[in-house]
Amino acid sequence: MAVGVNKRIILADPRGFCAGVDRAILAVRTILKAARPESAPGHIPPVYVRRQIVHNRHVVDELAGQGAVFVDELDEIPDDAVQAGIPVVFSAHGVSPTVQEEARRRGMYIVDATCPLVSKVHREVLRFVRDGYEIVYIGHRGHDEAIGVVGESPEHVHLIEHEDDVDSLHFQPGSKLVMLSQTTLSVDETADLVAVLKQRFPWIEEPPSSDICYATQNRQTAVKAMAQRSDCVIIVGSANSSNSVRLMEVAQESLGERGKAHRVDDAGELKTEWFDGVDTVGISSGASVPDELVSGVVDWLSTLDFTDITYEETVKENMKFVLPAALR
Ligand code: SF4
Repeated sequence: MAVGVNKRIILADPRGFCAGVDRAILAVRTILKAARPESAPGHIPPVYVRRQIVHNRHVVDELAGQGAVFVDELDEIPDDAVQAGIPVVFSAHGVSPTVQEEARRRGMYIVDATCPLVSKVHREVLRFVRDGYEIVYIGHRGHDEAIGVVGESPEHVHLIEHEDDVDSLHFQPGSKLVMLSQTTLSVDETADLVAVLKQRFPWIEEPPSSDICYATQNRQTAVKAMAQRSDCVIIVGSANSSNSVRLMEVAQESLGERGKAHRVDDAGELKTEWFDGVDTVGISSGASVPDELVSGVVDWLSTLDFTDITYEETVKENMKFVLPAALR
């Protein structure tokens, strides 16, 4: 690097919060704001949230600090809270019908913050099953979104994650067969699996439109372009955030041998040695990451003389989702 020239940061744009995450967080904040201390007797909290509202530790900690109580399953919510009408929020990743059924049976006041784009995949499953199809669903085993979608019809939805999983599938030639996928997978990753599926089951149908959501697609496109101009990439996002992990993989593919991509929850996880000999650091963040965390990384890098900040803008986003019906 020339003496006297500042080291550079390239911020990918778009990055961070998507419309589905924005809506889910706003739903919990709206309930917290409306809750009056006297509205719930004794120890009852103002809102329960099933699972992490979005897959980001900082967001969850912040909402928990304001009184939201996060549970893994509905049976952790006591009856007195249900009887007091305390809202229970379903996360942006969606839930299976068995969870919906349990909530109904117990008379819970549900605020469903499932992202509308995830709900669309649930509806597709129901429609295809009604029409007699078997569904191959490309997703991550154990991810909340995949659990919810498969739960719509476990006997007809066949989850595959890796190419090896295709070997275990058996369908009658010419039978009604369609593929769907998790919204936050990498476009390239699904392309490989789609190719393997088409080779094994040439008659398999694709959904009318891709299930990979606009936010996932846009963030991956911006990261690819940004990584091509960088020597090192930092993706801000939690380890259990599917789209953040995918962004790191996309960045690494784009960087190739030129450098390394790292994923961190926040600036506290950065290591000085990652930036030895690096002139340009590219930064992006997952769809569940508040921009303050990216600012923290930028501030940290400024102490290593990365002070020249530019942007890689690939598209302008203006998607917005209205609040869940129960809050409108
Ligand atoms: S990443 Fe896409 S599908 Fe997931 S919450 Fe955001 S907009 Fe919805």
